[in-house]
Amino acid sequence: MNLRTGFFFDERCFWHAAGLHTLILPVGGWLQPPSGSAHAESPESKRRMKSLMDVSGLSAQLQLSGAPLASEEDLLRVHPAEYLARFKAMSEAGHGELGEEAAVGAGTYDIARQSAGLAIAAVDAVLRGEVDNAYALSRPPGHHCLANRGMGFCYMANIAVAVETAKARHSIQRVAVLDWDVHHGNGTQSIFYGRDDVLTLSIHQANCFPVGSGSVEEIGEGPGIGFNVNVPLYPGSGDDAYRQAMERIIVPALDRFQPELIVVACGFDANGVDPLARMLAHSETFRAMTASVRAAAERLCGGRLVLVHEGGYAEAYVPFCGHAVIEELAGIQTEVVDPFLPMLEGQQPDAEFCAFQRQAINRMAERLLR
Ligand code: ZN
Repeated sequence: MNLRTGFFFDERCFWHAAGLHTLILPVGGWLQPPSGSAHAESPESKRRMKSLMDVSGLSAQLQLSGAPLASEEDLLRVHPAEYLARFKAMSEAGHGELGEEAAVGAGTYDIARQSAGLAIAAVDAVLRGEVDNAYALSRPPGHHCLANRGMGFCYMANIAVAVETAKARHSIQRVAVLDWDVHHGNGTQSIFYGRDDVLTLSIHQANCFPVGSGSVEEIGEGPGIGFNVNVPLYPGSGDDAYRQAMERIIVPALDRFQPELIVVACGFDANGVDPLARMLAHSETFRAMTASVRAAAERLCGGRLVLVHEGGYAEAYVPFCGHAVIEELAGIQTEVVDPFLPMLEGQQPDAEFCAFQRQAINRMAERLLR
């Protein structure tokens, strides 16, 4: 069955540049300036994903749309005025640091507003019933951003802003945010940590980024206790671990929470060739997770599902993971075959490792779902 899937993007998002970096560090000292694409968080992984969708004919079967910039009113639901003013001043000056690995370049403020605006519009279109589900190709990403501090290439908490805006505009109460970016969704977690109306779930490589963040013990505080779920996986985990985490923990947690809307922080950096993590997921892993969350959304909340792009730094491979996700979201199969899949399937961890990781997932499930 083909669904009406909205795809929200804007070329402006690809024009954010945070100055000259080598991988993630500013050049200088012993770090030679790079020749080709500089910062790990380059536009190319995203632009190439959209390019592949265009060439395969997938884009033509979606409802493509832009979006207005996030308004100050929308941003103030999450970010203090002081933070926004500081960010805007740095952006106008053309340089600055909003936090750890959050360098600001010329125009970053408005590009970040554009990125958040895509997430807002995608959620809005789904809640209005204009589309069945949606994908926002947001850049810069948002899931590490705290209310008052940028972090990890994130300057505005795109999903948190979209969730709060949706709650202000529509009569919805319970929203679930599932984060399968390979890094911990610490920003989203911190913004909703004391609340029971937003369930935050994160599957990530244990102790990758931010270091020391995202343990299974972080379950929320006050009224929010039990409404934050972390599933840290061992480095080297692959397809089996992600499917198990979905089946044993994420889907049961969604079933118990009964959300009215599900939003996914859709990072692709758990793929097996990403430079900023050490996992072995591939395009079929992402397709399977999308199928699983789409089925949950159809069962629980009329199919209301929005995916918002987060990380993913392998320029050659993100397009195939993203393409698989959008195909699954829209219920469309194109002729695209992932040429890297045989290599990554051949590199999956052995049965002993998978059993070891399954036991850890089962222990987490017992603890988190009791
Ligand atoms: Zn990430």
